[in-house]
Amino acid sequence: MSNITPIDNNTYAIDAYYGYPLHACVYLVEDNGEYALIDCGTTKSEIYIMGALAKLGVDPQAVKYILPTHVHLDHAGGTGVLSKRLPNAKVYVHPYGHRHLIDPTKLNAASLVIYGEYMMNFAVGKAQPVAADICYELEDNQELSLGNNKLLVQFTPGHAKHHCSFFDPKSGNYFGGDVLGNSYESMRSDDKSLMFLCSAPIDYNGEDWHNSLDKIASLSPKRVCLCHYGAINNPQSAFEDMHRLIDKNDRLAMDLLDIEDDAARRKAIEQMIWGLFWDEFATRKSPMHKEHAEKWMEKDVYISTEGIAHWLKNLRKNKN
Ligand SMILES: [Zn+2]
Repeated sequence: MSNITPIDNNTYAIDAYYGYPLHACVYLVEDNGEYALIDCGTTKSEIYIMGALAKLGVDPQAVKYILPTHVHLDHAGGTGVLSKRLPNAKVYVHPYGHRHLIDPTKLNAASLVIYGEYMMNFAVGKAQPVAADICYELEDNQELSLGNNKLLVQFTPGHAKHHCSFFDPKSGNYFGGDVLGNSYESMRSDDKSLMFLCSAPIDYNGEDWHNSLDKIASLSPKRVCLCHYGAINNPQSAFEDMHRLIDKNDRLAMDLLDIEDDAARRKAIEQMIWGLFWDEFATRKSPMHKEHAEKWMEKDVYISTEGIAHWLKNLRKNKN
């Protein structure tokens, strides 16, 4: 089975094998012989990405950019190892994420707490440092020239403070990392989305997220390309789903704010997040078997639970 999905003539999704197939992808964009990689999976993804480049006949020297949307390990963990294999690639990242790529000590330690030892060893791997002389800070609305094209950078906080996204004006593709939610191809019954809000720790912010979605919608993209997983050809429905899910998430989470006991509050959050997912799953008539979907979503629900638990804990601290 190939791990390459063509999106259009110049754009491919490559499965980064985030623990399992079809859980996270990276995008390869080409113009006039130059390439950009948007997101780069974990340290363990390098072999799959390099294999896909070889299958596509891409000269590693022709990759001009590595563009992690944010510095969570499923998007940026592989930057260090991959940058060593792509000799001309420059890494561009949000200013808040920059130092964590050059010295990933803190990033690895924080990720170990969230993932646990098993996931960290099995699916993720430790991030390796990126050489400082090839790592640059992005600016909001910056344009990155690629062949005869220019990719537009947008800062898109909500999932993470340091999240940025990339728009290709030639193809109309919008590469939104995690800001357009998670919607796995294998769970979709049609081109409408089955969306899941990934509220990962540590800086989930619903208000910022709404604003980021409006910023993206203002560009009227033809397609939105998700890291988890693949392209959605109906961006309008994705925006609507995301606005609705953020509101629903925040409303239900606030009802749990006053639970005194940390463990009881966390348990209630976990149930709430499963509930959010199963509602979408049923409404969208997902073709996936329920037991399979439960296994598939375990990691996402766990990470979102951690994020909302962290968010409510902070709200409680500020209240007292
Ligand atoms: Zn992610």
